Amino acid sequence: MSADNAAAVARFRELLQIPTVSQSDESLIDWAPFDRFVEALPRLYPRLHDALEHEVVDGHSLLYRWRGKGGAADPLVLMAHLDVVPVVAPEWDRPPFGAEIVGEGTDAAIHARGAIDDKGSLVAILEAVEELVVDAFVPEHDVYLAFGHNEETAGGGARAIVALLQDRGVRPGLVLDEGGAVVEGVVPGIAVPTAMVGVAERGVMTLWLTAREGGGHASTPPAFPATARLARAIDRIRRHPFPARIVPPVRALFATLAPHATQPLRTVFGNLGLLGPVAARVFPRLGPELNAMVRTTAVATELSGAPGENVLATTARAAVNVRLLTGDTVAAATARIRRIVADPEVEIELRHGSDPSPVSPWRGEPWRRIATAVRDTLGEDVVTTPYIQLGASDSRWFTAISPHVYRFTPFHLTRAERDALHSHNERIRVASWLSGIRFYRALVEAS
Ligand SMILES: [Zn+2]
Repeated sequence: MSADNAAAVARFRELLQIPTVSQSDESLIDWAPFDRFVEALPRLYPRLHDALEHEVVDGHSLLYRWRGKGGAADPLVLMAHLDVVPVVAPEWDRPPFGAEIVGEGTDAAIHARGAIDDKGSLVAILEAVEELVVDAFVPEHDVYLAFGHNEETAGGGARAIVALLQDRGVRPGLVLDEGGAVVEGVVPGIAVPTAMVGVAERGVMTLWLTAREGGGHASTPPAFPATARLARAIDRIRRHPFPARIVPPVRALFATLAPHATQPLRTVFGNLGLLGPVAARVFPRLGPELNAMVRTTAVATELSGAPGENVLATTARAAVNVRLLTGDTVAAATARIRRIVADPEVEIELRHGSDPSPVSPWRGEPWRRIATAVRDTLGEDVVTTPYIQLGASDSRWFTAISPHVYRFTPFHLTRAERDALHSHNERIRVASWLSGIRFYRALVEAS
């Protein structure tokens, strides 16, 4: 490895060793590591901090502005977040904040919480910009770096950054946040590596379903206790899934991949417009990811009942987490679930909800810039394709100020690496991370 690459890896490992762990209850968060993280950046990236205006937003989120030669129009925004999800340390083969390098040659990988999600991107962006500043490069248009501090808990950091930019009249020409990666084997029948760029993300909402009764002793239960009523409601939701349909970003995904598929899938993928209803029926059987691409999904997650094993539950409650496909709304999905539960004794309350994001175009200049950077830095054979992101990201706030919001993590990730996200043994291959730096560099150079 070159001396420059070795130094970059050393900085990455140092930042991975700072446990910026988020908690859904923000009062439980230890903010000291977040302070340390923010304080380490000017020391590790001195030239960037000289050349870019920078400010702290909402406590620990960071906003940088690199002024372009050509004025303030059409700025590029590179996003990432500095918080990571908690770890269950005993499940890990290596210390989750040790950032040890395991393996040799092209297999060498850095093991750490946040190695991919999302310090992988955050540090690669910093490396790319630092290099460019050192090379005396000045971008044509403004470049912003927007790093939220509470993405994992849907906190307000990124939203505060967007509010600030909106106040200042900033209208980004291209926003890039975490999202799909360069992957293989996600779509059956496709052997080429694909860069999955999210052009939209599903909405997210949570309903509380509550059944109540007078209480009493478990030795003399009523015929239909609150827990059974709640269980029936949950099972009705499971047995009546939302209708499957092919939305435009999913049709575009398969149309893009069709030429790379073998028959008969090539014909099927290329003609989803005609075969849509058939495909919508088949996809759900091909696994949870394809199912989630073609329908709004709903699943009961948290359950609560009696406070003791020998008492009846006066309140039995389930949280139902719903992910809304493009075209659905919080209001329509709530009404549908009410209809399916069909039980006036089960209260249904909306806890929070946001509609699906608008859909960004997969044609035009901003899209071509991403596809070109992919081809030039991640591989000639990589096919860049639009898709709908199944989870939520901070980028949804940016759709208020830009029609060109994309979600892509520029690393080649194996199935096993993707499975380790939000789980144990999160890791990234060093070679894959270094390619990501080149990707961000190419994107900035083209802006
Ligand atoms: Zn993330």
